[in-house]
Amino acid sequence: MCGIVGYVGKKKALPIVLNGLKFLEYRGYDSAGVAYLLDNKVNITKEVGRISSLEKLIDLDTPSYMAIGHTRWATHGEPSVSNSHPHQVGRFTVVHNGIIENYLEIKEDLKKKGVKFLSTTDTEVIPALLDYYYKEEKDILKTIKKVLEKLEGSFALGIICDDDKENIYAVRRGSPLIIALSNDGMFIASDVPAILNYTNKYILLEKDEIAKINNNSYQVFDFNLKDIKKEINTFEGSCDDAMLNGYPHYMLKEIHEEEKVFLDTFNYYVNNDSFKETMPDFKKYKNIHIVACGSAYYVGCIAKSLLEEYAMIPTCVEVASEYRYKKNFYNQDTLVIVISQSGETADSLEALRKAKKDGIDTLAIVNVVLSSIAREAKYTLYVKAGPEIAVATTKAFLAQTTLMALLTVKLSRKYELLKEFKGLERKIKELLSKDYLEYAKAIYKCNDTFFIGRLIDYALCLEGSLKLKETSYINSVAFQAGELKHGTISLITKGTPVIGICTNKDIVSKTISNLKEVKARGAYIIYITNEECHDDFYDQLILLPKAHNLVMPILSVIPLQLISYEVAKLRNCDIDKPRNLAKSVTVE
Ligand code: GLU
Repeated sequence: MCGIVGYVGKKKALPIVLNGLKFLEYRGYDSAGVAYLLDNKVNITKEVGRISSLEKLIDLDTPSYMAIGHTRWATHGEPSVSNSHPHQVGRFTVVHNGIIENYLEIKEDLKKKGVKFLSTTDTEVIPALLDYYYKEEKDILKTIKKVLEKLEGSFALGIICDDDKENIYAVRRGSPLIIALSNDGMFIASDVPAILNYTNKYILLEKDEIAKINNNSYQVFDFNLKDIKKEINTFEGSCDDAMLNGYPHYMLKEIHEEEKVFLDTFNYYVNNDSFKETMPDFKKYKNIHIVACGSAYYVGCIAKSLLEEYAMIPTCVEVASEYRYKKNFYNQDTLVIVISQSGETADSLEALRKAKKDGIDTLAIVNVVLSSIAREAKYTLYVKAGPEIAVATTKAFLAQTTLMALLTVKLSRKYELLKEFKGLERKIKELLSKDYLEYAKAIYKCNDTFFIGRLIDYALCLEGSLKLKETSYINSVAFQAGELKHGTISLITKGTPVIGICTNKDIVSKTISNLKEVKARGAYIIYITNEECHDDFYDQLILLPKAHNLVMPILSVIPLQLISYEVAKLRNCDIDKPRNLAKSVTVE
């Protein structure tokens, strides 16, 4: 789930590895560690907490030219120094992202054979197995292959062996891993931003491929240890994309990129009011299943409203971790759309594989180029959000919503609707330039908040509520406006903030009635709408610019994101790295 960086080359390795890990900090982690080669010996330093704490324990000037580093997001065993990576058993030192599902079995077996374990992680069985089989195989590659045969689960590994002072080994199953190439040395990394300060040339490892890198060359082997040729990719973005550039937080920086992200996504698919070839022609599907997790699932909820309203295609939205295990009523007329920012979300990937295995057409809506979901789907449409560093998604959400609205137009064949996107960037800019602090002040001291809305506004309520929860740790619930009085209204007391969203004039009076119901029970109301309102039921008003209903969610989400940001700031929360969260969830 978290970060791996390794370097072997002509430069001192520790500054490079620590710098790389810092670029992966955004993924969320609880401890960090490095292993480095010095005087023919592998040394390990680990620390709980931030990379800056680890850095204090290390002399960056150490003349070591080979190192592997890790940021851990604990899945098995509490965050502690002994559970942090790298883990070393005998001759092998390993960093690991992911989960070893059968580690208990392996551990019991090795214990019987006399192996001693120092941590409570699943990871430690990997160096233990490597060390055990190396005694039989006496060859590092053959040993790695043997261990791959024993491991179940998802993992990306960086490996060094005491008997090989020149090479770092890496292997991947499930969790992403790249090798990156420069004139001064070679890298392994779990994500591209880690290496962008040094190179933009990289190779994606596929399932069960083993890489061997040294200071001036690399080799990649398949599962049968056959040397294979790999395509070298060039990352298009710049290092700047992954920098704060003067903003106090990535979340704020990324929200302020939304005007550009909207235009980049729109212009990638549309030119002069018609679709480009980048938007393929889809057959007329009779129904659509949208499968996703978290905020991407809420994009799916917005898309369901749009697809049903404008393209007249019955659409269901399912949480990926459920979809994979339930009965799915799909057939040749179904399109399964998987939405994922990272393209590596484990449950979404498995849901995609299930549909593919059943012979159903799949479409990926993904931000990260060449990610697993992007590569495995029948069709892939990229959103043009650029690297998203803050754990809580903002600009990728807006880009996904934009793309789903475009896809709706494509599937509806009502191409005249494309004109509704025109000039939206100016309205985005207008919303971004407003100050949301006053709204946040009404919320930040409360324990509970409610978001209410109907139809597509309810989908936005779900996202607004999640954003507030994850960034500010305030409990928050989203409700269909008409549903509140069937029980939950009992939670409304004097001063409870209720954020009401209504962007559809056909139902505005209904939503206002529901807001009046909570007002009568003491709620503090923040009303978000695009209709002038002369009533006085609300305490604060956010007037959205006017836009067609098809594109309205692209605008209505912006105040929700900025309010969450301001609330989190007032509460002194770790805005870009909320507790317990990781950026891309590559475990199930
Ligand atoms: N499952 C491993 C652990 O808990 C690795 C977690 C990670 O991906 O950071 O130590």
